Amino acid sequence: MDKIDPRRFLISLKNMGIDSYVSQRENVVTLPLLRKQVSECRKCSLAATRTNAVFGEGSNRAQLLFIGEAPGEEEDLQGRPFVGRAGKFLDQMIERIGLRRDEVFICNVLKCRPPNNRDPEPVEVEACKDYLLSQLELIGPKIICTLGKHAYNTLFGVDEKITRIRGVLTSYKGIKLLPTYHPAFLLRNQNRVKEVWEDMERLKQLLRE
Ligand code: SF4
Repeated sequence: MDKIDPRRFLISLKNMGIDSYVSQRENVVTLPLLRKQVSECRKCSLAATRTNAVFGEGSNRAQLLFIGEAPGEEEDLQGRPFVGRAGKFLDQMIERIGLRRDEVFICNVLKCRPPNNRDPEPVEVEACKDYLLSQLELIGPKIICTLGKHAYNTLFGVDEKITRIRGVLTSYKGIKLLPTYHPAFLLRNQNRVKEVWEDMERLKQLLRE
């Protein structure tokens, strides 16, 4: 007798309309595996200088997924995304939407900290990008919110300035995407905070639709 392929079995259940079971099963099987791969990854030179890889955290079924640039010093030490001052600001942004941190998913383009928080190098982004794409596929959010220019430019393969793209609703592979400022930028540019509150209000409405 032929052996049952578990993945094909799950897909056939999905075809029968048993979506939630399939989604939960896939996540149980694959997100932890991806997390493990990232924790052991040595695909670029940042592996040599990191303390911890930062996979991301939040709900595996999140409707809203935030993507930042790369871990900073505190994130590298704790192995968690957005835990420093910028992280506290991101928490406020999430609260504005009426959600809790554990109801969204938060990750970065790069999973390891660039030394001295320098900008990601193209070769590092190229090496790490597949992890982000897999996270999007596995979590399947309704809306993506990119924080700063790097996340947006990585997904679309462009080189836009954040001031040009911020607040302009678009879509990525059929998922609504709203770019906004990076919380670290907002700590240095308080005069831009009002625009971010507008973006959070927009996200709140999009989630209701
Ligand atoms: S930054 Fe990404 S590609 Fe580079 S070592 Fe870390 S996980 Fe791997």
